[in-house]
This record gives sequence, C-alpha cells and structure tokens, in this order.
Amino acid sequence: MFFGKKKKQGGLADSLKNEQATSDIILASIDDGVVLVDARGIIKLFNPAAENITGWPAKEAIGLDHQSVLKFINEKGESYTPAQNPLNKTLQNRTATRDSQGNLRTRSDLAVPVAVSVSPLGGEAGQVGGVAAVFRDVSAERKEEAQSAEFISTASHEMRTPVAAIEGYLALALNEKVATIDAKAREYLVNAHLSTVHLGNLFQDLLTAAKSEDGRLSNHPVIIEMGGFLQQIVSDIKFTAEKKGMTLDFLIGGSDKNVNASDGNQKVIRPLFYVHADPERLREVVTNLFDNAVKYSEKGRITVGLTGNDDVVQFRVSDTGQGIPAEDVPHLFQKFYRVDNSATRVIGGTGLGLFICRKIVELYSGRIWVDSKLGQGSTFFINLPRLSLSDKASLEQQLAATINPSTPTQNVTQPKVMIQ
Ligand code: ADP
Repeated sequence: MFFGKKKKQGGLADSLKNEQATSDIILASIDDGVVLVDARGIIKLFNPAAENITGWPAKEAIGLDHQSVLKFINEKGESYTPAQNPLNKTLQNRTATRDSQGNLRTRSDLAVPVAVSVSPLGGEAGQVGGVAAVFRDVSAERKEEAQSAEFISTASHEMRTPVAAIEGYLALALNEKVATIDAKAREYLVNAHLSTVHLGNLFQDLLTAAKSEDGRLSNHPVIIEMGGFLQQIVSDIKFTAEKKGMTLDFLIGGSDKNVNASDGNQKVIRPLFYVHADPERLREVVTNLFDNAVKYSEKGRITVGLTGNDDVVQFRVSDTGQGIPAEDVPHLFQKFYRVDNSATRVIGGTGLGLFICRKIVELYSGRIWVDSKLGQGSTFFINLPRLSLSDKASLEQQLAATINPSTPTQNVTQPKVMIQ
C-alpha cells in the first residue's frame, strides 16, 4: 500500500495514520460531492464538496433522511417523486443509477444543476447495504449546452426559410404546366430537388433535436388509448410500405390477435392500453421508426406491435431488413450517429431520428431500445408507463377541476381521451 503506518515514513504518509485518515483526505480534497447513505436512507457521510454544493453542514446532514437534504428537482422546478429519486432507485434495485438532467435544491433554495451517479454498497454478510452518491455541479456544462442548442436552433430556423424557397422554385421548374425544360435539365433539377428536400429535413430535425434538448419541444399530453392510436397511424402509413413491396401488420398482444391494417372497421376484443402523452410527439416516434424500417429493408414485412402489463405499455416496430451490427447498437440513440456501411452511405439520413425518438420517449419517463440481428432484421421497443383506470379517472378529474384554460400547468395535464 502507498500510505504505510511505520514512523520512519515521512511527510504526508506520517499524517495518514490509517485507512480512515486516507479516505478522509481524499474525500475532503475532491470537488465531487460524496454522500453515503445506509440501507434505511440515513446519511452517514457527507464530504466538504457536498456541503459546498448543497449548503448543508455535514454535522447537520449526517443522521437525517437523504430526501430531506438531497432534494432533487427537474428542469421545471418540480420535485422528484420518491420513485424518481436516484438514491431511492439504487436502494431499491441494488443497481447503479445515473442522472445528468436534474438539479439539487440547496438549503437556501437555489437550484444547482448536477450530474449524479449512485452505486450500491455491499452490506454486512446477509444484510442489505446502503448506497454511495457522487454528484457534481454541472452549471457550466449545462450553460454551454444551452448556448449551443440555442445557436443550432436559431441557425436551422433561419436556414429553413431560404431552403423552402429554393425547393418551391425547383418544384415550379419541374412542373410541366409552368416551365419547359429539356430532359437533361430535368434530370439535374430532379436531383437538386431531392437534395433540397433532404436539406429541409435536416434543418427540421436539427431544430427538433435542439428543442428536445432544452425542453422547448411543444408538449400537450392527453390520455391516449394506444391500440386505437397505433391502428390509425398504421393505416395512414401502410401505403409507404406497400409502395416498396413490403407488408405492414399490426399485432395487439399475442400473434393470434392480428389486426389487419387494411381493415379499420374490424372489431377486435382487446385490452385498452392508456398512456399520458402528446399524440403529435408519439406519432413522430412511430413514424420515425417505421420510416427507418422501410428505409433499411429491401423487402419483407414490417410489424407494429402492442402489448403491456399493469405498469407498462410496450409497443414495437420490427422489420426483416439489414439489421444493425452489435457494436453500433450502444451508440444508436446518440445525436448524429449513423451505422457506417455501404448501405447507409447510399441511403440518405441525418442520424438524428433515433436521438429525437429517445428524447421524446424520455419526456414521458419511458425507455427505447433495439434488438437486432445483422442480416435478419431489427425490433425497436418502447416502454411507456401505463395509466391505470384510476390514474385515468384522476387526470380526468383534474381537467374538470381546472377552470382557467390559460394556466400553463393545464397544458401539461390536459386530459382528453383519444380512442379511434
Ligand atoms: P438516419 O436514419 O437519419 O440515419 P436515425 O437516427 O433514424 O438516423 O438512425 C440512425 C442509424 O441507425 C441509421 O443511420 C441506421 O444506420 C441505423 N438504423 C436505424 N433504424 C434501422 C433499422 N430499422 N434497420 C437497420 N438500421 C437502422
């Protein structure tokens, strides 16, 4: 060991009498807040950086429940529920939890942006242990992120206007009723038009991605019954698949309950899966996944599926396309990430679609992931919290109780049932 106990070792080593002193020095010298909590949630250790960030002196914080000292709030200033609290999550699940989006409310009521990482601690033999929370003040990073998102969103907003004008003029030039052009010029203009459409989509995606990062994505959640909702989307988009010679199926629950996408009137007895989300945003997610399934498949079938349990509504989009290499899967939902192969080099894309999907799904406390086999196909899964019938009833009551429609909170919980 580096720090020994023998007298003859001089300097710093002398002052470190034992391992306790070593850890005290380390804990006192780092900029990250470190808090140890026992299995009952009681604070046992609170280092000086934790004191600086939270404004709580260690001697007062130690012995208190962690939730009365480490008060997490979201970007809207709302307190985390006990289930959202990262320390509670690790105390309960015994797995590490990370959260880089939250803020801590200090003792003097200021909000400090923090990135927190919580790890389980082993208990005594046979006993459940506590957790260690390490957090750091990320005010500077968040400010930089906000500035860069602001720049991207302003730039893409400004650039969309001239691109739309160019696209419009190209479309006019290609319109035989308006302009006369020879075959060669038409070929060039068709290519120019395609590229302009691509550029327009890129700016739109950039704008949406920037908004999703700084919380400006418009969001008007209502109560949605996912079965009817997905069925409607499937019937709207199935022609795109059919144009490419692919089939599109919609499955609810097990494969025996295949709802034919081409027959909107078919009556099927099925469970009702309610979620609380903005239908426009969810439609964006489903169509994005569907467009990818079409884009990255040569032929075969696409399946939109819906299932769930008491807590979760799960929907999925599967294809029988080219699949995704295992090494790319962990990066797929990052901004601008595209699999680099001969196929994606030819197929146009921005690498923003799945990032936007993830941001939207996370907005509703959901999770998105992919299961893929190279050469065989991919399935993208989305889990969203399921609204129980009592949740649904209380949201509806909230609507009834809300009198002034212009209050901002009303947008967040404005319940309205959508059943197609
Ligand atoms: P884009 O399609 O614009 O490139 P996305 O964020 O939607 O961006 O997708 C990121 C990458 O993930 C794509 O470039 C592609 O390589 C891969 N990908 C997405 N969906 C599929 C799919 N269904 N099958 C195979 N690869 C996919």
